[in-house]
Amino acid sequence: KLYNEVQDLKGNIRVYCRIRPFLSYQSSKQTTIEYIGENGELVVVNPLKQGKDSRRMFKFNKVFSTAATQEEVFADTQPLIRSVLDGYNVCIFAYGQTGSGKTYTMTGPSSSSKEDWGVNYRALNDLFQISQSRKTSIAYEVGVQMVEIYNEQVRDLLSNGGGQKRYPSTLSYFFWLHLVSYDAVPDASMHSVRSTEDVLELMNIGLMNRAVGATALNERSSRSHSILTVHVRGVDLETDAVLRGSLHLVDLAGSERVDRSEATGDRLREAQHINKSLSALGDVIFALAQKSPHVPYRNSKLTQVLQSSLGGQAKTLMFVQLNPDLDSYAESVSTLKFAERVS
Ligand code: ADP
Ligand code: MG
Repeated sequence: KLYNEVQDLKGNIRVYCRIRPFLSYQSSKQTTIEYIGENGELVVVNPLKQGKDSRRMFKFNKVFSTAATQEEVFADTQPLIRSVLDGYNVCIFAYGQTGSGKTYTMTGPSSSSKEDWGVNYRALNDLFQISQSRKTSIAYEVGVQMVEIYNEQVRDLLSNGGGQKRYPSTLSYFFWLHLVSYDAVPDASMHSVRSTEDVLELMNIGLMNRAVGATALNERSSRSHSILTVHVRGVDLETDAVLRGSLHLVDLAGSERVDRSEATGDRLREAQHINKSLSALGDVIFALAQKSPHVPYRNSKLTQVLQSSLGGQAKTLMFVQLNPDLDSYAESVSTLKFAERVS
């Protein structure tokens, strides 16, 4: 029998807020976070303002304070990983201004020891552990793609990946067929993986390839969306029934507003593309949350690539990342409003 032990989740969209700690070089430690409730309540405050604009309240499925560890954050994400192996499509992404901890949550700090691992590594680690534990009843295959979207263009981050052969040679013909006909990111190489180590190796290559595009002036990673896609195919050894699941792990471009009067040329174009794709994402999730019959997936590359894991039976988790400092109050409120609209 196929497994179906997913914990029943309230709706298909969950929103977690995570506040990054002050960094050692930040001289002022004045915070904008006033209150974090047990049940996902959050109050941000700006003591420099007067009246109703000085304090705002929001409600999430959960708020992680600056003290939350990577392990604690993942503990609440874990049930979604299991559901990928049960045949669901899952999308996990991090939204927030540059420097708010998106990459920290999804990948971890660059000097990654195991306990600093972000959601990506932990998710894949779990995926392999669970598939191992089921191996007497279901045979799983796992394929990985990694791309970035920059100025509405998709770039393969693993095109020379890991010395591993490209599909279809390393994936079974049936898995490959399913991907071609179904939800693989077009024109991006697919890599067969059998262990967490395989994934670590690929992700390091992807991150290096991502850095190559960066210039000193303009750190590209904050201007592009990076997407790690994991495709799973399981065959029930007794009945030959096939299940398919996918997991999209997304580190979004920085959501900060760019001053239109100052940005010109490339910078302005980048900002416009980021704006467009983030609002398209917001519109899609909003439409889904409203159970609207029309979901506008076609409005950006980002929502096109993520389409199979947004809506329908798919489960979506958004990490809303915040800076704690007072200077970020306006950006934080803008981030929180984005989240409020979709939750
Ligand atoms: P973003 O990807 O949103 O631009 P980063 O993930 O790069 O932000 O985080 C910015 C800085 O803050 C990095 O130096 C990162 O290591 C640090 N940081 C972010 N979140 C945390 C956290 N929860 N605990 C400790 N350091 C963090
Ligand atoms: Mg980042």
